[in-house]
Amino acid sequence: MNTAVRQIGIHKPAIAEPIRLAGIIEDSIVDGPGVRFVVFVQGCPHNCDGCHNQQAQNFNGGFNADIYKLVDKIIRAKTTKLTFSGGEPFCSARELAKVAKLVREVKDVEIITYTGYLFEKLLEMAKTDKDIKELLSVTNYLVDGKFEKDKKTLDWFYRGSSNQRIFDITCYPNSTKARLIEKREDLK
Ligand code: SF4
Repeated sequence: MNTAVRQIGIHKPAIAEPIRLAGIIEDSIVDGPGVRFVVFVQGCPHNCDGCHNQQAQNFNGGFNADIYKLVDKIIRAKTTKLTFSGGEPFCSARELAKVAKLVREVKDVEIITYTGYLFEKLLEMAKTDKDIKELLSVTNYLVDGKFEKDKKTLDWFYRGSSNQRIFDITCYPNSTKARLIEKREDLK
């Protein structure tokens, strides 16, 4: 167990390391299957018309949280299901990848990451941006694509518009052949 996690274990976080957040929800039932701990990062460049989370768009909004305290909260939560949302998680890729790795040192969590980018674009970006690659690497399920108002639907499980896709990317980076999730029951 590394120093950071040992410090979490004794309730004394290491020197604060910031992550910009819009908020957290410890028991969401709408951000993926099951009861989930959701981390909403602050800041999004996509500016979707009809954005459901406008207050999370401004990169100067939200508040600074300490990564180690956030990790501590996630470890102590009852659920083993974690969702990264926003805002745009890939604009906080370094911080979220670090959160995921620290949590997984003591707790096996399944991670869904929402993004306004297309998966194909992220694969391209990951070739030159190691933080993007890291966040893809720790993600089990990726929900991709901007919210499109004219494709808004209430029937598309865990997504706001029908253009958005869910991929199982657990195989990444060993393979980029992600599995497209087409039925709710395939999302485990
Ligand atoms: S990606 Fe999400 S948070 Fe960003 S503008 Fe679109 S709906 Fe809003």
